[in-house]
Amino acid sequence: MTQPALDLVIAALERIREKSDRAPRASRTALARLQAPPVAASLREACTSPTEQQLQAARNKADLLAAVRERVSACTKCAHLACSRTQTVFGVGNPDADLMFIGEAPGADEDQQGEPFVGRAGQLLTRILKAMNFAREDVYIANILKCRPDIPAGSFGNRPPTPTEMQTCRPYLVEQIDIIQPSVLVALGTVAVEGLLGTRATMRELRGRWHTYNSIPLMITYHPAYLLRNQAPSEKRKVWEDMLQVLERLDRPISERQRNYFL
Ligand code: SF4
Repeated sequence: MTQPALDLVIAALERIREKSDRAPRASRTALARLQAPPVAASLREACTSPTEQQLQAARNKADLLAAVRERVSACTKCAHLACSRTQTVFGVGNPDADLMFIGEAPGADEDQQGEPFVGRAGQLLTRILKAMNFAREDVYIANILKCRPDIPAGSFGNRPPTPTEMQTCRPYLVEQIDIIQPSVLVALGTVAVEGLLGTRATMRELRGRWHTYNSIPLMITYHPAYLLRNQAPSEKRKVWEDMLQVLERLDRPISERQRNYFL
């Protein structure tokens, strides 16, 4: 019974009591109905409780990820990388994210800061996310490899991870995906695809359509570093079209401005 209706019933019962010398009587069923929580309140409770459940799920996921992170930070399975790294680069973002990005390996900047995608390519990824109406904290970002691939002393730049290094480190990423359970995965670049799916193919063959990893929809697109090397508007537009597909898959609203956007 709703609160206004309950107030009317109580007022009527009080009037009966005032006008008669007998207290008003009610059956057990009627009393039980009167004492039942208002329907609207029950509905409110039912609608708000999943949010609390979601918060708890996020806390559980954060705890599970923290345990994996601890194992990764002490990992020496690739002895040569364990010796050369400044630190491991585990992953960053919302443990309960709907959207998860996967890159190949940390570069020099990431190795220094302990966070994936913080160099120039990372800044471009952050701009792409912003155009999608996401903050970095809304999504989860990780690499196949958690250590920076070593390079000869005195040389500069980054090298791609080898297939053996990726296969050795891949189980950590699998654990991350299993915990986060995102609705959509995005693999950035062909090396990330090889690490995740074991598939070697060109971006021309892979991008622009949906793949799956463990039943999770997977979009494959260019690594932001490729867009920094190749500034052609046609290539940037391809990445943005892939991101529009991701937004559609996530049921996120897409504005006219976003539809016409060029990175
Ligand atoms: S790359 Fe991965 S498997 Fe290899 S040492 Fe680093 S954390 Fe361990």
